Amino acid sequence: MDDRYLISGGIVLTLNQQDEMLVNGAIFIEKGRIADIGPAAVLQDKYRGVPDINASGQVIMPGLVNLHMHSGLIRGTAEDLPVFEWLTRYVDPKHRALQKEEAYAAARLSYAEGIKSGTTCVLDMYRFVHRCADAAEETGIRAVFAPYVADRQGYDYFETLHDNIRLIEDRHGSVNDRIHIWVGLEHLAYCTEGAYREAARISDKYDTGIHTHGEESLAMSQKVHEKYGRWPVELFYDRGILSSRTVLAHCVWMQESELDLLSKTKTSVAHCPVSNLKLASGIAPIIEMQERGITVGIGTDGVKENNNLDMMEEMKFVPLLQKVRTYDARVMKAEKVLRMATIEGAKALGLDREIGSIEVGKKADMITIDFRKLHLTPVLTEAYNNIVSNLVYSAQGSDVRNVIVDGKLIMENRKLITVDEEEVREQGQQAAEQLLARREAYIPEMYRFQGETV
Ligand SMILES: [Zn+2]
Repeated sequence: MDDRYLISGGIVLTLNQQDEMLVNGAIFIEKGRIADIGPAAVLQDKYRGVPDINASGQVIMPGLVNLHMHSGLIRGTAEDLPVFEWLTRYVDPKHRALQKEEAYAAARLSYAEGIKSGTTCVLDMYRFVHRCADAAEETGIRAVFAPYVADRQGYDYFETLHDNIRLIEDRHGSVNDRIHIWVGLEHLAYCTEGAYREAARISDKYDTGIHTHGEESLAMSQKVHEKYGRWPVELFYDRGILSSRTVLAHCVWMQESELDLLSKTKTSVAHCPVSNLKLASGIAPIIEMQERGITVGIGTDGVKENNNLDMMEEMKFVPLLQKVRTYDARVMKAEKVLRMATIEGAKALGLDREIGSIEVGKKADMITIDFRKLHLTPVLTEAYNNIVSNLVYSAQGSDVRNVIVDGKLIMENRKLITVDEEEVREQGQQAAEQLLARREAYIPEMYRFQGETV
């Protein structure tokens, strides 16, 4: 099945440059790549006898790229606090308590959840990343990893740049290039100037990307400016990390000068609308970024701030927020949102030649979505074509039926093929209970910690 097969009968959204759509189309997959695209009748005749996945009543589109997420286990237990209080009260103690096998359980749970709602590629910032890479290998998801690196005093439980280099050397490009390792930097509050400069050097030496959080809360932004006389993105620029290989998460509070720097350096942004809403961070100026030609993808952030990893749900928030922020219903069309969740995310990861659209020669990372649903009716492909609007505004993660990554079918008719869903869930449940029990011990200590905050 995995080597040569057809997927046929659905509405194919290629998301190629011309945004071509085929009604009753088919795709021929060979050796993990898209080898042919055309009308179902033509391809079924041409490739007679090869296995055929029937996608009638479904939309076939590129898999979703989750451009900023953290694997995690503490869903629903870190609620209702502003971002820095939230970090101190819930997140840092969790990091102190986290152990390697819990990180592995978290990664399996998170990738399985992502796959079930149509995510085929993640940029995951997490801990004990060699075990997360094992989880990605097993589940079949495509993954770019950026370890949580921190080097400020008091954060010695995080990964180091030395760990990051070892990971790059061990795993970057592994599993048929399905796993990439980038340089990760937690945040300005966690990393010294030296860490940024060293990250830039490592990125150059190994020709790999850099991922970090930038401009999330207004309070943090102002604190940085008071201390350094520079806004956060200006500091990133001074420290040498901005380039076309860098993805900054959030970018909510952006000065004109910061937008100009992203544009000038071709740095990409991972927009995380639900996280920005829930932590009351603000609404990122996505329209202004796109007007400057900045590449913007979409991320869910982690389950501790979202509280799910459902990219279908995340997509809907993107246009809603931009429309209400600008009081202009015309901005941020559904077609653009779908591209942000696929090809733009791929471009931010430097993978747009390989994934992000359905084009001959690209790797077969794609999903099918069942459109025979009450909440997706009517399905119109002619004068009132509503396919893309239905996807962005009406579809749900649970409408995803089949998921293919690197040419391999990893979910068929909503059943995960690579791992036992019930076992992954049970392992996640146990690991979360252990982690939360141990986290308690660290909370009072963190409140006593009086280190520098910027
Ligand atoms: Zn984050």
